[in-house]
Amino acid sequence: MDFTAKKDIIIKMNSAIIGCKKCRLCKGRINAVPGEGNINASIVFIGEAPGAQEDKLGRPFVGRSGNLLNELLGGIGLSRRDIWIGNVVKCRPPENRDPMVDEIRACKPYLDKQIELIDPKVVITLGRFAMEYFLPGEKIANAHGKPYLLKTRVLYPLYHPAAALRNGTIKQILVKEFKELKNLMTKDIASIDFMNKEIKTDQEDEISLFI
Ligand code: URA
Ligand code: SF4
Repeated sequence: MDFTAKKDIIIKMNSAIIGCKKCRLCKGRINAVPGEGNINASIVFIGEAPGAQEDKLGRPFVGRSGNLLNELLGGIGLSRRDIWIGNVVKCRPPENRDPMVDEIRACKPYLDKQIELIDPKVVITLGRFAMEYFLPGEKIANAHGKPYLLKTRVLYPLYHPAAALRNGTIKQILVKEFKELKNLMTKDIASIDFMNKEIKTDQEDEISLFI
């Protein structure tokens, strides 16, 4: 798909998300946070849900976690212009509680479509919730920093920057695994030693939702 067509669909989707009332999280939000960045990026980052700052500004990862993420990206020679970043749920849960199963399900078509359109080589999940979205039943303590095959993409689960802000050991791990991410980005998919054979998702089912 050419850039203009892609951009057009992304803009339509962003408006749909901004006005979305498909789950109860629409009630407590100031702003929905559709996600943002380079829609031709080869790497996409997925967080859990907007926090207070994100809700206020309608933009992802603009608080303390976002600052650490920017630092980690800078450490491997990347900036926010090189990536696209979004969340599993687009509206802030009250008091930053965990998103509920029905909320994740209601919001799912947006993220699935965003990933399909941007079509990145690597999908990086930040934290347990985003990891479980793709790897249900997996444990973050086991999965972090290991590549999984997600159909035609590489799934690379990482700890959440918020966890690294609370725990110095996790921060060291995150710094190290960002360096490994840099290597992963340059590798041919066929040469990667994946933890699995293939993860089936139902992304195709949602293709025509916003067109
Ligand atoms: N944490 C997340 O998971 N997402 C954001 O957008 C901000 C903080
Ligand atoms: Fe819609 Fe997702 Fe916001 Fe729920 S969280 S209201 S499904 S955009």
